[in-house]
Amino acid sequence: MEKIKMTTPLVEMDGDEMTRIIWQSIKDQLILPFVDLKTEYYDLGLVKRDETNDQVTIDASNATKKYGVAVKCATITPNKQRMSEYNLKEMWKSPNGTIRAILDGTVFRAPIIIDSIKPAVRNWKKPITIARHAYGDVYKSVDMKVDEPGVAELVFTGESGKVQKVTVQKMNGGGILQAAHNMDKSIESFAHACFKFALDSNQDLWFSTKDTIAKVYDGNFKQIFEDVYNANYKEQFEAKGLEYFYTLIDDAVARVIRSEGGYIWACKNYDGDVMSDMVSTAFGSLAMMTSVLVSPDGKYEYEAAHGTVTKHYYRWRDGEKTSTNPMATIFAWTGAFKKRGELDNLPDLVRFGELLEQASLQTLQDGIMTKDLVALAEGKTRAVTTDEFILEIRQRLEKLI
Ligand code: NAP
Ligand code: MG
Repeated sequence: MEKIKMTTPLVEMDGDEMTRIIWQSIKDQLILPFVDLKTEYYDLGLVKRDETNDQVTIDASNATKKYGVAVKCATITPNKQRMSEYNLKEMWKSPNGTIRAILDGTVFRAPIIIDSIKPAVRNWKKPITIARHAYGDVYKSVDMKVDEPGVAELVFTGESGKVQKVTVQKMNGGGILQAAHNMDKSIESFAHACFKFALDSNQDLWFSTKDTIAKVYDGNFKQIFEDVYNANYKEQFEAKGLEYFYTLIDDAVARVIRSEGGYIWACKNYDGDVMSDMVSTAFGSLAMMTSVLVSPDGKYEYEAAHGTVTKHYYRWRDGEKTSTNPMATIFAWTGAFKKRGELDNLPDLVRFGELLEQASLQTLQDGIMTKDLVALAEGKTRAVTTDEFILEIRQRLEKLI
């Protein structure tokens, strides 16, 4: 069989621990036998990041800007314990944070669903994709504790010299204060990424904030979305029969629970943080959650939503055969192949991505799954190791191809 050809390389970002092991098996068993794989390889494993003073993460992000499509393995975000475990020079920043900052992107998360795993919400039939604004608000806020009566004020001094001032509160005793911000440009980028992704994936877009309470702050989010929509996307949405609508966050929550799924829910930073954990848990497993970072100028970085599965890695290192779920990592690759194929007009590459997804889903439908899913699935199931699971997918993929 002739291997499927590629023209533009994918930006490949390797990672850490159990997911690094799985990464290699996916390539060896499910990709290299079928695709004449072209990638520009960046090793984002912690050892290499430390060796290059994290330059490799910056290079990989810039390569994604250049080529447009990347696929990333999960990586360790160092903490104190990792400093000594890896004897690090510095506590390097989260690679995802660095990539997101360079691409100015928005993260979209969607679950992979199969019939035998019923979501906790009975009426959910299609995936719900959460788009989380990844800049500002409480994540970049400052706060203060005071311990006597006094006046709290919010003061802005413009470069022009103009001063704006509001009273936060006349405090009659000790208490706490917080000031948060966001930037119009970042909200605009977020809006563009959401509208583009909705058109790209043929789904409605919902956006929610609490503008009845935060009239200026959340009102600004609402207004920017509306302006960006009317100026750039309204006609395309109407032509495709898609809907954009804004609603209050509490109304959105109620609608989401009553819905069948099948739309994108755009959330402010904090709402997205909380709601994505709720939605992913209700759909089943973090191991079945896909994630893609989309920049406002249409660059894509695909990955799994979960981490490096450290506990399994330590067991693997001790010689145990683990049953770690590779689905989300496989779907990171298929997402990247489909997008690359679409951009380069390579229908065979798109088709390969679809067939690999189909083979993976078929394996699960046949009841063959990793331990994390066996606990959730209805019907007859058989728990297998990661290696066995990947081989089962390979057999089905060969038949499909
Ligand atoms: P994690 O790697 O997502 O794993 C947490 C637990 O979830 C695992 O111990 C496992 O539970 C279960 N799990 C997650 N993915 C699974 C899979 N594919 N198959 C089966 N079970 C799975 O989160 P963590 O342990 O908090 O973080 C580990 C490292 O990953 C950290 O260093 C963190 O910095 C990094 N991280 C990276 C990313 C990223 O690169 N995007 C995201 C999050 C975390 P059981 O042990 O009960 O089986
Ligand atoms: Mg969270």
